[in-house]
Amino acid sequence: MKLSTPVLRMKSSFIREILAAASDPNVISLAGGLPDEKTFPLDILKPVMTKIPEDVSLFQYGPTQGYGPLVKHLTARYEVPNHHKLLVTTGSQQGLDLIARAFFDPEDKIVMEAPSYLGAMQVFDLVQARILEVPQTDEGPDLEALEVCFATQRPKAFYGVPDFHNPTGVSWSLATRHKVAELCLAYQVTLIEDAPYRDLRFSGDALPMVSSFCPDQSLVLRSFSKIASPGLRMGVVSGPEAWVDALIKVKQGADLHSSVPVQAMLLGLLEHPDFDAHVAKVSDLYQGRYQVLAKALSALEDYGCRTLPTQGGMFVWLTLPDCDTMALAYRLLDQGIAAVPSDVFYSGDKGQSALRLNFTNATPDKLEQAVMRLESVLKSLAPK
Ligand code: PMP
Repeated sequence: MKLSTPVLRMKSSFIREILAAASDPNVISLAGGLPDEKTFPLDILKPVMTKIPEDVSLFQYGPTQGYGPLVKHLTARYEVPNHHKLLVTTGSQQGLDLIARAFFDPEDKIVMEAPSYLGAMQVFDLVQARILEVPQTDEGPDLEALEVCFATQRPKAFYGVPDFHNPTGVSWSLATRHKVAELCLAYQVTLIEDAPYRDLRFSGDALPMVSSFCPDQSLVLRSFSKIASPGLRMGVVSGPEAWVDALIKVKQGADLHSSVPVQAMLLGLLEHPDFDAHVAKVSDLYQGRYQVLAKALSALEDYGCRTLPTQGGMFVWLTLPDCDTMALAYRLLDQGIAAVPSDVFYSGDKGQSALRLNFTNATPDKLEQAVMRLESVLKSLAPK
């Protein structure tokens, strides 16, 4: 059977390719966005899981919006306004897919920061939306470019990751948050705020969500992959009721509802008195690793490499002197390090030369070793 046009156009995912190579025990992988498995809250989950079979109704078909007690818990946890609604999704990736399919016709325009999250580019490509890119600065999207884009292109929505961006680790400043919301309101552009890393803050104070400044024009995605476990596939979307009702309709066609026993597990976890301490412990662990990686990377400044400090999340963006980053990533793989080249995070023109480095899934000594191997590759490439 002939594949559909958008599927034919899909690039094979370099990340998946590199992750396959990274399973080699001799490769140190800084490529995936994987949490450390030792952070999975199994001590809390085990007793929760043994109770689940006691309620046979959890194993019946359930409501598309989500398991009632979980929906109630999440509505209170996230202080969802009265006229908003919340939908439990099979990971926040499904939330993105539902949004793309519910609201985008081919050629509808979506604005993203450049670079941006590959998985979001994929879902908007699949519905044949037009992705418009606005460069990212150290404080979030370039506001002048964003306003010009809104004014001249009249896009439907702006997709952003304001907290600990994937792939750059950048967080938007407070002023940027206000201004983006103001621009979305002025130009009637819907904000899609993707916040999977928001709870993984290890220093500095949390800033308000951008959507809190334009709630009636926002859809918000949250994920439990980074603070609980990605294998649970649990996420949540919230926004104005009529919009979430449209997402519920699309979800009915996608998977009827997310797994009810897993939703019950998540509820047990979130309600557990030790859950907040668990998240704080995970953030502390990642802070230690980030510090080790950042210190090691500072030795690469002699090769023209730079990093931006981050206060949370999972990634460091190492900018390099202009080069073919894809070729560099393959060369690094030969030397036993997996890292993701910047090219894959741009939809249009190749942007900055950089590597995305993950610091949450390798031990401190592996992080140091990886940077030593990276340095030897850079040394071999440096002009003599
Ligand atoms: N958004 C962003 C920015 C991400 O980095 C990821 C995970 N890599 C997702 C969404 C999807 O996360 P989930 O596991 O909740 O589907």
